[in-house]
Amino acid sequence: MKHLLGIEELGREGIERILDRAESFEGVASRDIQKVPALRGRLIVNLFYEASTRTTSSFELAAKRLSADVISVRSSGSSVEKGESLKDTIATLDAYEPAAIVVRHPRAGAAHLVSKWTRASVINAGDGAHAHPTQALLDVHTLRGRIGALDGRNIWIVGDISHSRVARSTAKAFSLMGARVTLAGPPTLLPPGIGVALGCEEATTLAKIGDADIVYALRMQHERMTGGDIPSLAEYSTHYAVTEARLRPDQLVMHPGPVNRGVEIGGDVVDSGRSLIAQQVAAGVAVRMAVLYELLAGAEKDGRMREVTAA
Ligand code: ASP
Repeated sequence: MKHLLGIEELGREGIERILDRAESFEGVASRDIQKVPALRGRLIVNLFYEASTRTTSSFELAAKRLSADVISVRSSGSSVEKGESLKDTIATLDAYEPAAIVVRHPRAGAAHLVSKWTRASVINAGDGAHAHPTQALLDVHTLRGRIGALDGRNIWIVGDISHSRVARSTAKAFSLMGARVTLAGPPTLLPPGIGVALGCEEATTLAKIGDADIVYALRMQHERMTGGDIPSLAEYSTHYAVTEARLRPDQLVMHPGPVNRGVEIGGDVVDSGRSLIAQQVAAGVAVRMAVLYELLAGAEKDGRMREVTAA
């Protein structure tokens, strides 16, 4: 497998293979020297055109723990601000002969385009509202670590389904792992047909949220809203925020971060023992190590694909 652009490319078997490897990488953090030599002498480029804290830092750490060299480029402060196109930026970075480019971009399909313009492996670290496969992997990893197999588990993904790449990738991953997934939110934030497209149930109220074993709250994606999707954030919170008052004592809660306390989730839920948010962040490093290993460890530097598509 050369690139990781979407979670569906992996299937259940691929997800399990990567997460088993992530488990074996988990011990690296507690060693005296927090490194393994798997990618020594290889270059990983992180290219981020959108804000990020968790994804960029965990990819950087994952690459370093595999002994790779890392360059992190953010669009702000780079030649992108001088008008350089994505294609020209990729051509520039490709000249350094990276083994992998990790890319985040506000437009759906950007990672796919990048994979046509470089000889490196490309990892989609989020493209618009389309996909975020490594988030999906770390979400499955976190849950497997806490409850074991996901088969038959009832998971509700709540909030701004419409603008969320996490909803799309994570719902697919949970379903592939055998969970029953419900997408819940106001009708204006549930695109028509999304439940059928992703193999999930839909709910437009939280009346039956008690059915869920796990509640996954999504951040409101202000940056992708064109206005008018909801009457106001206060109105949204009244009806859809994941709060202690709405939850049964044994329900677990997840959130991809960054959290907007008091908007999509109560601060008391974030800080409670039912929250898996810190475990999700921690899982990000070992899971991204496993993804880099999966794509790169078997591929020799000289075996890299040399043809670059003209498109
Ligand atoms: N960090 C996640 C993403 O990049 C979730 C979010 O921003 O709401 O999609």
